[in-house]
Parts: sequence; structure tokens; C-alpha cells
Amino acid sequence: MEERLKSIRFIAITIGGFVAALSIFFATAQYRRRRKNHHKCSPKSCYLQADQTKPQHAFKRVLADNSYSPFKHLKLDASRHEIFELVENPRLEFSFIDGIVDSEISEEYTWVETVSQLKELLDVLIKERVFAVDTEQHSLRSFLGFTALIQISTRKEDYLVDTIALHDSMGVLRPVFAEPSICKVFHGADNDVLWLQRDFHIYVVNLFDTAKACDLLSKPQKSLAYLLETYCGVTTNKLLQREDWRQRPLSKEMVQYARIDAHYLLYIANCLITELKQQGTEISCPDDKFDFVLEASRRSNMTCLQLYAKEVEAFPGESAASSLTSRHLNGQGAVSSVYFKTEFQDLVMRLCAWRDIMARVHDESLRYVLSDQAIVALADRPPMTLAEICRTITQADLNVDLSFNSLLPSPSSVVCSHLDDVHTLLQDNISNLNDIFPMILQKCLGSSGSCPLSILNYALLVNCNLKVSLVSKQNMVKSSKQVARKTSRELFVQKFSCKTPVYHNCKIFANDGRLLCYCDRRKLEWYLHRELAKLVDDNPPAIMLLFEPKGRPEDEDNDFYIQSKKNICVCCGEGNHYLRYRIIPSCYRIHFPEHLKSHRSHDIVLLCVDCHEVAHSAAEKYKKQIAAEFGIPLFVSKVVDSKEVQVISGSSESATNDEEVGVPPLQLRTAAMALLRHGPRMPSKRREELMQIVMRYYGGREITGADLEAALLVGMSPHERRRLKKKKGISFKHSAGSILPNMQNNVGCTETSSIVDASEVGILNSSDSTKAEACNGQQEFRKADDDVGDSTIGADSGVDEVNYTFKDSLKSDTHGASNRKGDCIGNSDDNYESRGPSNGTVELNHKKYDGTAQSKHNSKLSLLGHGPHGKQVVNHLLKEYGEDGVRQFCQRWRQVFVEALQPRFLPAGWDVMHSGRRDFGEFSVYNPANKALDLVKS
Ligand code: AMP
Ligand code: MN
Ligand code: ZN
Repeated sequence: MEERLKSIRFIAITIGGFVAALSIFFATAQYRRRRKNHHKCSPKSCYLQADQTKPQHAFKRVLADNSYSPFKHLKLDASRHEIFELVENPRLEFSFIDGIVDSEISEEYTWVETVSQLKELLDVLIKERVFAVDTEQHSLRSFLGFTALIQISTRKEDYLVDTIALHDSMGVLRPVFAEPSICKVFHGADNDVLWLQRDFHIYVVNLFDTAKACDLLSKPQKSLAYLLETYCGVTTNKLLQREDWRQRPLSKEMVQYARIDAHYLLYIANCLITELKQQGTEISCPDDKFDFVLEASRRSNMTCLQLYAKEVEAFPGESAASSLTSRHLNGQGAVSSVYFKTEFQDLVMRLCAWRDIMARVHDESLRYVLSDQAIVALADRPPMTLAEICRTITQADLNVDLSFNSLLPSPSSVVCSHLDDVHTLLQDNISNLNDIFPMILQKCLGSSGSCPLSILNYALLVNCNLKVSLVSKQNMVKSSKQVARKTSRELFVQKFSCKTPVYHNCKIFANDGRLLCYCDRRKLEWYLHRELAKLVDDNPPAIMLLFEPKGRPEDEDNDFYIQSKKNICVCCGEGNHYLRYRIIPSCYRIHFPEHLKSHRSHDIVLLCVDCHEVAHSAAEKYKKQIAAEFGIPLFVSKVVDSKEVQVISGSSESATNDEEVGVPPLQLRTAAMALLRHGPRMPSKRREELMQIVMRYYGGREITGADLEAALLVGMSPHERRRLKKKKGISFKHSAGSILPNMQNNVGCTETSSIVDASEVGILNSSDSTKAEACNGQQEFRKADDDVGDSTIGADSGVDEVNYTFKDSLKSDTHGASNRKGDCIGNSDDNYESRGPSNGTVELNHKKYDGTAQSKHNSKLSLLGHGPHGKQVVNHLLKEYGEDGVRQFCQRWRQVFVEALQPRFLPAGWDVMHSGRRDFGEFSVYNPANKALDLVKS
């Protein structure tokens, strides 16, 4: 045994040595050839100015361009319906081939390259019940790749469709591919269906995938080569798959290979179907007969439900950079210093980003522009001169195996004509990438740019919004102030960002197998727990509803709900930290009619800490605009103790007294808080000022310690009160009764601005209070989640909804002890507002609402936040414009969000105009009746 191992090892070494020697031989030969290339490497102009050989430049219409914007699908109304129908109800007779199939391949085939030929093909296909399809792609000299050939075989004939010549006309075949009565046989269609969408908006309906049939039959292999071998005795050279399928005319071998890929599929499908039928009868399940044929068809059509999407990254080239870095550094072991790591990582990131952008600009693949090994070499020992850069790249490419890649020119034409950029990138380690790349893009594609503008790249320029928070991520520490800022930021990230992925991407299927939506685990369990659904998959979990859902995503013509979602910032793509952001501020949303609240998954997005901050301040700004527009102030302007109302009301009409009566609730609270905490140590002048404020609430009378404590709670929702009590450790010496006199006699505080609707008076008597306490824990839990109502919770406060931003946290650090965040209720933004220097918003006390009516305080609604404002605004909208008013209001907020952030990673189907029309069935978690039920059960 030992001996054998040794000899095997010996042979291995010998072969290894031989291969090495061979490589060196070839390498040297190639090296010579490439060195010649170097002289052509002139950074004067872009190679594409002279290169007329790329066929995609003749395309007049490109559906998937090289920009960072998401792919736009065709309105998928009918097709998707049909696919769903087929998944639900596979209706295939499956006797494709009558009699013995002539598995011989003839000399004859049809080359389709003109529109009229294509239309003839359409006429042929539309009469067929089944045809076989395969596609060949070209990916080296293109960024996203394109379909270079489609092979279609009917029972009688093989067609090779030149999809380069016919690129702009391929839509002609859309109807046959979408025709549910015609079966399309593919082998391993997963990629093909996406490529057809990407290039031609062709959506396949009624698919039979022979690879899926192999799965069901538990075949030892499911490659096409295996099937060709076993069923047809045909051997095929799969290496031809990697040929350059752009070439015209195609070589004889390529034509043959291409035909074989489609020609035998009908025959093979027929064989497999026969076996599937047999399988069905052999395995006799006593209670339910499993139909293997239908299952194969169903699984095939599930593939068709996939939608093409461009890959998204946090920053151009980011994923390549991180995999390259980790691969390289792992290889290095512990040798490298920390400094080296950062320097290296930084360069790899720059080069990967540059490569990504240049590949898009020139419509080349990444590997064509610059190989991974060249990036590592350049970053490892950054060359100083242009010539050294070229040498480093060539050398790195030579060191790698001599198979496929080494046939590429090295350095590539892209590197050669933009060598100075590479040079700058390697030398300049100060400038921010965010500044460099828009510049490069301008230099290439701007008005006097070096590179040709094309339908593939022009959208890059239009939308060259590459700004990402790279500064804080990668730059080395510059000053202690920055250290403080960084630490503070990290703490903030730690504290508020989501601890686990938000989107679990669990699937919910309807009882007929249609995908309804993606959801989180909790929702899935909700259905399972109630036996309203059964688990159909574990990883990732998927359930099938056991009842008929009311309404389907496709009914609404909106794919949004059937997209899986990425756990990244929708604005910049950051994936390391993110938190939920509510596009429609909860101070409004909380007052929406229940059925309009259901669009949480659309209107709650993930944002990284930095983007969250931007979004939040834009929203706050817009709230002020809304306040002015509607004449509804953001804050309750004044409150006064109800016990003193009688005393005041007589004189409240008089202008002289007006100033003295009542006080903004936030001011009252801050004053009371300061007095309770620091009263004895305060300068007497300041103490007197604060006392005056509190006294104004009590109608000007003298106040006691108990009054101060009571003042602290004025205008708070029960929730805020509990938080204050629990968190801030303030000991209430007085019984609840004496602290909350106004609550107990159910008059509440009177607002001179009459913001709260008098019809909705919440009475917080002592029994309510205990009930609220009892379910406190549960509320806290529920609050942390999106899908369950938050209507019981005071507006604008919440665990996961951080309206308190990173900058605020810095401010609070410098504002001194009395203004520390810790003193505020939870993390409500409103408290931050109260810290603001002038409280300008509080003064938005429009006469219109002034002193007209005295209303009672809805005890559940905080008077401290924007809650009363939100309620008033929503009531106004509903009264004046009905539900459409609310929908338009939502659209305004989405617009504000989009304008402020220019998000690049919003899920496909996300729409400012999102309709908001959804009906909810009997069992929906959104159904108000079920919500009540849910509470009772849990
Ligand atoms: P096929 O489905 O085998 O006809 O492959 C279709 C296309 O996928 C080919 O034209 C290639 O562009 C691409 N492709 C599939 N497999 C490979 C592979 N192993 N290497 C490179 N390209 C591949
Ligand atoms: Mn093929
Ligand atoms: Zn160029």
C-alpha cells in the first residue's frame, strides 16, 4: 500500500514537472508574441475607435444595458398568468414523437438570418405542438453577455437562428414562446430562460426541461452529453460550447454541435416521459397517485417563473475585490502586516472598481479587461511606471495555466488604451474613489470623451451616481476627532442596525403552486401554526396555503411582491449594516385605514446608517413643508393642566393673558426634567425661568415636587410613560393617582391648538393601566417586527425604527449631561427636535387652529411627538380626498425618498406610484379580524 502511494506520488511529480516544463516552453513563446503587442499599447486613444469588429455595436435596441440601473421587464401580464396556470395545471398530452424517431441527423438544416426567414419560422412553429430549443452565448467580449445563436428543432427540421443578425427582431418569436399550447423542450433551461428575457423579452411558457425529468427519475447523471450517449448513442464534444459563437460563418463542427444540442431533445424527452409514466405506475402509492409526468412539467414551469436581474453590488467590483483579497491573504498566512493588508486591500478594491467600470464602458467581460491574477500582482507590488504596469500584468497572466484564458491579449486593449488611469489609480492613494470614478467616466464618455458612446454604455453616464460611503470604511484614521466620530458611529451601527437579516425570503405559494410573495419566518409560522398552510420546502423555507388566497400578485400587475429581496442598503448597497427605514413616517401611517397599511414590505426598506441619516433628515424637512402646506403644526403648541382650565378659560379670550397660559408640551417636559434632576445645583436665575414654564402649565399657581413629576408625564402616551419609568430609573414617590390627576378624571390636558380629535378619547383608568403593563412585554416584542400592527404604540418611537440618527448621537454627546440621549424617551426623533436650539417647529402655531375648541387628550397618543400632527393630516386627507388622498400622500413620500437618496438598489417592481390596492382574504394576517384573533391566541 505504502509502496503504491509512493509510486503514484512519483508519477504525479513527474507529470507535474513535465507540465511545468511545457508551460514554460509555451509561456516563453507567447511572451515573445505579447511583447510585440506592447509596442501597440499606446494610451493615446481608445482601441474601440478603431475596432469595428464587435457585432453588438450594430444592435439598435438593447434591453439590458451596462448601467447600474435594474433590468426592466416586459409587462408580464399574460405570460406569467399562463405560466402560473401551467404550474397549477400541467396540461400536456406528452406524446411528442409519433412512432420511431429518426435520430439520424441529416445534412439539411435551415439558417435563419433575415426578418422574413424569421417570420417564416414563426409560421412553422405556431403550427407545432412541440419544439426543442437551445441557445449559445457569447460572454468574453461583452459585459452582460448576449445570445449569439438559438437552435430550434421541430420533428422535421433543425433551424439555426442568427440572433446577432436578428437581434432587434427576435421579438417576432415572442408569441410562440409564450403560447401555452406549444411545449418547448430545453435541457437545463435555468440560464436559457433568463438569457431570452435579457436579450429579447422572450418569456417561455410551457416548458419541458429534460434535466428536470432526469432529477425525478434519479438518473446517475443529468448532463445532455450523458443523455445523448445513452439514448442516441451520440458523443458530443462539449468543449465546443466555449467556442466564439459570434463568428460567421460558423465552422462545420460548430454547426454540427449546435444542431445536436437541440435535434435529439424531442426524442430524449419522449423517452424520459415514457419512463416517467412507468415510474408512476410502478411506485404505487395507495392513497394518492403521484403523477411523475405532471410533476416534471410543473417543475419545468417553475423555472420559467424566474426573472432576469442584473447583479447588484455595494460598490463597483466589490464582490470580486473581497473574494480576491481573502483568497490572496489566506495564501499569505500570517506574514503580512496590518499595514500591508490595508494597502493591498485598498488597491485591489480600486482596481476591481476600475475594471468593473471599464468593462461596462467598453462592453467587455471583466476577465477580458484585467485578469484576477493581474489585479493581485499589481496590488501586491504596485509598479511605478507605465511600462512596469504592462510588464506586471503580462507576467501575471503568464504564470497562470495555459488553457483558455492565456489566449487573451495581455495587457488587454482596454488597459493599453487607458494605461494612465491605471497608473493614477496605483499612485494616488489619497483621493476618494467616489471622486475618481465619476471623473474617469466623464473622461471616457463625456462630451469630448476618449471612448465611443453606445446604447450599451450611455446610461452609465446619465446615472453615474457612484457615491458610496467609502470614506469611513476604508480610510485610515486621520485625527482623534475622527476616531471619536468613528467609534461613535460604530456604536451606533452596533446598537441600531438589524442584528439578523431582515428578509428571510421565505416563499408563500398559493394552493395551486403559484408564488404569492416572499416573507419572513414569523409570518410563515403564523400560517403554519394555524394550520392554514403546509411546509413544502425547508431551505429556504416555503409554505403552500391551504386556502384560496384573495387576489394574486399578478392580478395587480405588480411583480414587487414576488421578488426576493437582498439584505442590503437599497441606496448604496451596503450589506454590513442596515436598518429598516419607513418611507412614510409612522406619525402619518399609523392613522391610515387598516387596509392601506398593508404595504409595509414596499414602503419599509433597508438603509445603511449613513443613508438612513440622509433619508431621515429629508423626511423631517418635508414634514415641515407638509405642516405649512396643510396649516397643521408639527407639534402641539400648548398644553395646560385641566384642573386649572376653569380658572383660565374665563380669561383665555383676553389677549393679554394668552401668552401666560399654557406651554408647549416639550418645553414643559424639558423644564420639569431639568428641575427634578439638577434643580438644587442650578443657578437661581435659570431655575426661576424653568419654574415659570412649569407654572404656566398649572395656570400660574405655585408648584410642588409632585407637580414637577406630574409635568414630566404630560402628553406622554402610556407607552412612553412606561419607558420613562423603566429606563430612566426615576422613582415616583407619589401614587399613580396623584401623578396623573388629569388622566384620572378623564379630562386630560387641554390643548389650545385643539389637535386631537375629540371623538377619540382614550380613557386610561387604573384597570387599563394595569392591562397595559401586563402586555408590555408582548408589545415590545411585537413592535420589533414589521408585519404586525404597531397601532398601539405611540407614534414615532420604536426599537427598530430609529428616528434618531448618528449625527444626533454626536450632538447629544456634546450637548452636555442634561441633554444626553439617555434623558429622552426612547429614541424618538421628537426628543431630538426638542434639543434643537430654537424649537422653531413648536412655534408653528397657526391661528386657524388656535384656541377654537378644547378637546380631550387621547391618552394613547403622545402629545410630544408628531403624532397629533400626523393624525390631523391623515384625517384631513381622508375627509377631503378619501383614500386616494392617502395614496397620493404615500406617493409624495416615496418621491421625497427617491429624490433625497437616488437609491440604486431598490427591489425590482418598487414603484413611487405603487397603487396600494390589495384585498385581503379571510385568513390574511392583514385582515383586522385576524389581528384581533392573533392577539387572543398568543
Ligand atoms: P449549452 O446549454 O451547453 O448549449 O450552453 C449554452 C452556453 O452557455 C454556451 O454557449 C456557453 O456560452 C455557455 N456555457 C455553458 N457552460 C459553459 C462552460 N462550462 N464554460 C463556458 N461557457 C459555458
Ligand atoms: Mn448548446
Ligand atoms: Zn476606452
